[in-house]
Amino acid sequence: MSKKLICSACGHIGSSKTAVKGNILIEIVLWLCFIIPGIIYSLWRSSSRYKTCPKCGGTNLIPLDSPVGLKILADQGKTLEQAQTEKEPARVYTKGEMLMFIVVAIVVIALITLFNNV
Ligand SMILES: [Zn+2]
Repeated sequence: MSKKLICSACGHIGSSKTAVKGNILIEIVLWLCFIIPGIIYSLWRSSSRYKTCPKCGGTNLIPLDSPVGLKILADQGKTLEQAQTEKEPARVYTKGEMLMFIVVAIVVIALITLFNNV
C-alpha cells in the first residue's frame, strides 16, 4: 500500500493520483505512425509524472505524518490513526487509461495475428 497523503487544498486524505503532462491521443498517434517519436514522447511523459489530489486536482499533497499534514488533520478533528485506517473509495479508471487499455489490447491482438500468419 502506498503512503497516505493529505491535500492541503481540500483536506482529502488518501493516496495521490499520478498525472502526466501531454496528451494520450498524441502519444497513441505517434506510436501508430512513427515508433521512435512515440518512444521519445512516452519517455518524456513518464518523466513528467507528478502527483495530484484525486478529489480537487491540487498538487499540494503532503505526507499525513508531516507537521503540516498533522495540523490539517487536527483542523478536521481527526487523529493520525483514524486517517491511516480510513477506507479509500475504489480506484476509478480515467477515460485516457481506458483508451490506453483498448489500444494495447488491439496492438497485442494485431501482433498475435501477424505472427500466426508468418
Ligand atoms: Zn484536494
